[in-house]
Amino acid sequence: MTKKVLGIYESGSIHWVGNAFHVRTMFPTHRLTHQAVSPFLLLDYAGPTEFPATERPRGVGEHPHRGFETVTIVYQGKVAHRDSGGNAGVVGPGDVHWMTAASGVVHEEYQEQEFARTGGTMEMVQLWVNLPKAHKMAAPAYQTLLSEQIPVVELDGGAGFVRVIAGEWEGQKGPARTFTPVHIYDLRLREGGTAELRLPSGGNTLLFLLRGSILLNGTNKLEGEAQIAHLDRQGESVSMAVQEDSLLLVLSGAPIEEPVAAYGPFVMNTQQELLQAMEDYRASRMGHLTAVR
Ligand code: MN
Repeated sequence: MTKKVLGIYESGSIHWVGNAFHVRTMFPTHRLTHQAVSPFLLLDYAGPTEFPATERPRGVGEHPHRGFETVTIVYQGKVAHRDSGGNAGVVGPGDVHWMTAASGVVHEEYQEQEFARTGGTMEMVQLWVNLPKAHKMAAPAYQTLLSEQIPVVELDGGAGFVRVIAGEWEGQKGPARTFTPVHIYDLRLREGGTAELRLPSGGNTLLFLLRGSILLNGTNKLEGEAQIAHLDRQGESVSMAVQEDSLLLVLSGAPIEEPVAAYGPFVMNTQQELLQAMEDYRASRMGHLTAVR
């Protein structure tokens, strides 16, 4: 059975995150609510933005998170990250940085020093993945998924290829460790190609087109840049006819059927837990970064 396209949407708000990431928020929006996108919480698409050379890297300074995971997928440019658990790393094109904030992390996200010095184009996605109640207060963790660790599956007929970041595609498993079942694919599609996307029934599925043009199920067109399709939970397949070279991020996951209480960088189940998160952060119980960058 075919998964129906329930809607195709443009971004919600457009704003700066720090001075490095000019983002379009694809969800949550009034159309794509928590319930429609669970277990995902937020998708910010940063760029493509051209930055002139500078000696001082742009970015977002020390800030906390609790109750979910942040997943940074880099398309262009380089991002340097550091957190209160003592983890640090740089991710570039094709790499993914998967941070499990869980009980609480304080971190910073900057453009990498050398990238800042020469300037260039920054393009990335930051996705927030919710944690079920049972794991919201688990120990924080950190995964750097380098491009070479991410399996690449060629599509039939030269339609392009799929990079399996999380979950699995035709038996190829993505490297990300996840708390609930999710599939995250980075698709690079060629004009004139056709492909069938097979996804489990019962999950929430979103197809985020960074740019290009794809006809879904022969009737619904995703085109231009920064458009997102929301698919029905029922059904297991979507057909794609690629009308221009396209860059597509596919997200699918089993919904977490629990209440969502969100405030800025904290996503919990109740207001009381949010207040506790704010108090724990103020009392330095989520740690701090060491002084030197
Ligand atoms: Mn952050």
